Amino acid sequence: MLSRPRPSIGKSTSISRTARGFATLMLAAAVAVSSSVSALAQGVPVVRDAEIEALVRDYARPIFKAAGLANDGIDIVLVNDQSFNAFVTGRRLFINTGALVTAETPNEIIGVIAHEAGHIAGGHQQKLRDQLDRAKTMAIIATLLGAGAMVAGATTNSRGLAGAGMGVAAGGGEMAQRSILAYQRTEEITADRSAITYLNATGQSGMGMLKTFGRFQSALSLAGTQVDPYRISHPMPQERIANLEVLVKQSPFVDVVDPPALQQRHDMMRIKIAAYMQGQAAVARLMRKNPASLASRYGDAQQTYLYGNPGAALTKTVALIKEQPKNPYFQELRGDILMKVNKPKDAADAYAKAVSLDPARSGLLLVSLGQALMAVGTPDSLKKAVTQLNNGVGRDRENSDAYRFLAQAYGELGDVPAADLATAEGHYYSGDYQNAKIFAMRAQQKLKRGEPRWVRAQDIINYTPSNKLK
Ligand SMILES: [Zn+2]
Repeated sequence: MLSRPRPSIGKSTSISRTARGFATLMLAAAVAVSSSVSALAQGVPVVRDAEIEALVRDYARPIFKAAGLANDGIDIVLVNDQSFNAFVTGRRLFINTGALVTAETPNEIIGVIAHEAGHIAGGHQQKLRDQLDRAKTMAIIATLLGAGAMVAGATTNSRGLAGAGMGVAAGGGEMAQRSILAYQRTEEITADRSAITYLNATGQSGMGMLKTFGRFQSALSLAGTQVDPYRISHPMPQERIANLEVLVKQSPFVDVVDPPALQQRHDMMRIKIAAYMQGQAAVARLMRKNPASLASRYGDAQQTYLYGNPGAALTKTVALIKEQPKNPYFQELRGDILMKVNKPKDAADAYAKAVSLDPARSGLLLVSLGQALMAVGTPDSLKKAVTQLNNGVGRDRENSDAYRFLAQAYGELGDVPAADLATAEGHYYSGDYQNAKIFAMRAQQKLKRGEPRWVRAQDIINYTPSNKLK
């Protein structure tokens, strides 16, 4: 399922303005996670989803490799915003759900990733990237990279995060003319050329990139329409697009299209974002082209789960599983539906299958499995839940929701110091250092000095804001 982590910071006006734009999301999100209402209230717009993160990582991996960038452990951060944006630090790729749902092919997104990789290879905005990579929590990053922060950096000297913070604080209806990520025209030309190099090295076409940038270029002339943060940060004069077109068409791979299986995963991702984030009309629009396709039927099953009847959704999902028995996300959807109809034992079985089928080894699926086992509620299943939740945070250290479930499971098993330490971790990774320290100290009182958990608690207590964003 698509879900939103619970944030602890980011109560600025411009961020909540972003959240208001997603009023339709509240219904879907309330179904997806119980904490979503507070997420919406505080407005940190990160969403988590095993399927989408894995797909975007698959888009990025060959490009990053061709660019000589860190190949292992790319973190995909999905920013819940309908505008178009994407940004890469050294090891994290931030991308708006709006960009993913707009792109009709994987190639359009891959092209944008290639261009962003070109900015990294060129050392553009290196200081900002370093600051973002040092940032401790997803919550902080999400706040800084939220649409509000992206467009509100109009203050002088706003390159860098301090400027971004000021922009967020100023907030309100002011639409800035530039972004904290503003590139220069020469940097754009360099990044375009590098992007073509990476696409050629991986045997892919530049047509998707050209289509995306061309769309932005034509949008320049339309006054008063939605301003995409990406277009503000990447200047797109006519001659840049013209030059890029020459390069793209010179490539021997200009006519290469995405492999059908990848296109299918892309279509399924788009319809999922539409179902969870945009509502039934958006799903219907995507289904219209080919109602019988697997992606359309996936969208229909999700929509039936979210807005209709779980029994019918389950039937539709089982049919999908028959067609693609190795698809972990169909099993995940089956688990979500079974949780909704209060069959946690069967849900745990579905999530366990999803975990075993998942080549991307997502921590999120383990956390869903842990939650289902918690809901079963026997001492034995609670112990299993603790194991799975610990495996989940092992793969996904910054998942603050997972620590909350872990704390609850430990609490139900009567392991109070472990519960306190998990609560401390959850606060720590969501950026609430004050409460993290309070719970770490509480845990230490019941732990033996020097044992591993005591030491971890001490690390949290010793954390100083000096490594924090400056
Ligand atoms: Zn650019």
